[in-house]
Amino acid sequence: MAEKKIGTLIYRRNLSPILAIFRLVPDEGTVFPPYEVGQYIALRRENCRLTKKLVGPDGRFVYAPDLDESGQQKRGPVSHSYSIASAPYETQLHRYLEFYVILHVDDRGQPGRLTESLFQMEAEADNTITFFYKITGDFTLEKRAAGYNNVVMVGTGSGLAPFASMMKQLHYDAAQGRPSDVRYTLFHGNRGYQELGYHEELTAIEASRRLDFIYVPTVSRPSKQDFEKTNVGKGRASNLMRHVFGMPMKEEEDLWKHAVEGPDAARAKSLSERTVRPILPEQHSREMLRQRMTPQDTVVLTCGNPQAMADVRRVAEMQAMHFEMEEW
Ligand SMILES: Cc1cc2nc3c(=O)[nH]c(=O)nc-3n(C[C@H](O)[C@H](O)[C@H](O)COP(=O)(O)OP(=O)(O)OC[C@H]3O[C@@H](n4cnc5c(N)ncnc54)[C@H](O)[C@@H]3O)c2cc1C
Repeated sequence: MAEKKIGTLIYRRNLSPILAIFRLVPDEGTVFPPYEVGQYIALRRENCRLTKKLVGPDGRFVYAPDLDESGQQKRGPVSHSYSIASAPYETQLHRYLEFYVILHVDDRGQPGRLTESLFQMEAEADNTITFFYKITGDFTLEKRAAGYNNVVMVGTGSGLAPFASMMKQLHYDAAQGRPSDVRYTLFHGNRGYQELGYHEELTAIEASRRLDFIYVPTVSRPSKQDFEKTNVGKGRASNLMRHVFGMPMKEEEDLWKHAVEGPDAARAKSLSERTVRPILPEQHSREMLRQRMTPQDTVVLTCGNPQAMADVRRVAEMQAMHFEMEEW
């Protein structure tokens, strides 16, 4: 078990009530271990509201608040892994690790133990996070993308974190005279425009032209104002990929499947009708994106929501592109 150390929250940017970017520094005189883009570290808070496993009325397991004799929810430590969203050069220069975190909420509306505690932190008062002094993980470009000319990244929600780290570092390296000769294409999907973390940085990296990099932001639940932003795509990231390849939306595919197979047909129809149809950002044509995803030399990396990753896998496999994912 790695040694535990205390870090301090020095920065927090709320993108929405459930999505934030956090920066953590170690105590004076300590530095974080070196890391590669795409790796993760375990974080822990000591006062999380604890849950226990119960069997629900339908016979399935559920996690319910763990109460003490006086009916208060017990508190204790909870640790989880988080992908590092900062680039190694940022940590070397400024000492911090950055994280892009979503407040977990389960099917019954109950917040996650650790993320609830993280989202309740205050910069001045309750501002410490325990971290395990070990950075690990093999979702790195070296391990997952070596030898490919085209790297397509698909990050949904906070699943952008490893890709934000990768693109910031690649851009920095290029600026330092170490350019990459690989083509990078990044799809980032979130619900609304405000939740597109790193949007400005990634737009600036693309505009700098130091790398062969195309950034495809997209929102799956666009507001009226979001619809007016023609430089941002509409629809789920995996549906944008499907659109690039002329495939039907996942929801349409499900509808056809259920129409043949039966009982869930009505639900599938309603879902398909409600789904936002894919529209690419106006600056990127379908043909140009398709040319960047030639099966023989493309690897598709994905991270984030499990259903979205499963659909990205399906698209990659249908197009005979190599597929890699980070499991959360
Ligand atoms: C390698 C890796 C990197 C990750 N990186 C990120 C990241 O960059 N950003 C990000 O937002 N997330 C990331 N995650 C997810 C993160 O680790 C947590 O799983 C997530 O934040 C939820 O934690 P929580 O304590 O709030 O939720 P939990 O309380 O752990 O609840 C999550 C689910 O676990 C179950 N659960 C509830 N109580 C218990 C219990 N007592 N015992 C067991 N299971 C229980 C329930 O099904 C619940 O829906 C990453 C995960 C991995 C593995």
